[in-house]
Amino acid sequence: MAKTPDKYTDALAATRAIYAELAQRPIERACERRTDCCHFKMTGRTPFLTRGEALVAAKALRASGRKSLPERGDGACPLLDAQGRCLIYADRPFGCRTHFCAAAGGPYARGDVVDLIHRLEMIDTQLGGDGARMLPGAIADALRTIA
Ligand code: SF4
Repeated sequence: MAKTPDKYTDALAATRAIYAELAQRPIERACERRTDCCHFKMTGRTPFLTRGEALVAAKALRASGRKSLPERGDGACPLLDAQGRCLIYADRPFGCRTHFCAAAGGPYARGDVVDLIHRLEMIDTQLGGDGARMLPGAIADALRTIA
């Protein structure tokens, strides 16, 4: 496997640190992997990813042995497998952790996580991005970046 360039290695570490920090925040959540929120066509909402998030997701997908995003014809997240499980749950994007799922507690209040969002945006800028993009395209590009 090709070595990941240093700037991407740093971005991966910084993004994962943000996820770890989010997990330490005293915000009550109860994500039970119901995956309701993974059905984008049904919910009408698709997560937007910064470049760091997309890189983390792409690396996790590669680690699962896949080279490209699985095809889905039903409008659900391409990372949702046939058994209804997230292929990259431990490395899922920020939006998948702070989403709107009512059963999990609804969306995080922006004020509780805005500092983390700004850090994700800074990483995006450092990687030459110009803002968060919809999950499928963002991860497809990241897979090419780390090819
Ligand atoms: S990345 Fe995982 S948790 Fe997020 S929408 Fe896709 S399948 Fe669901």
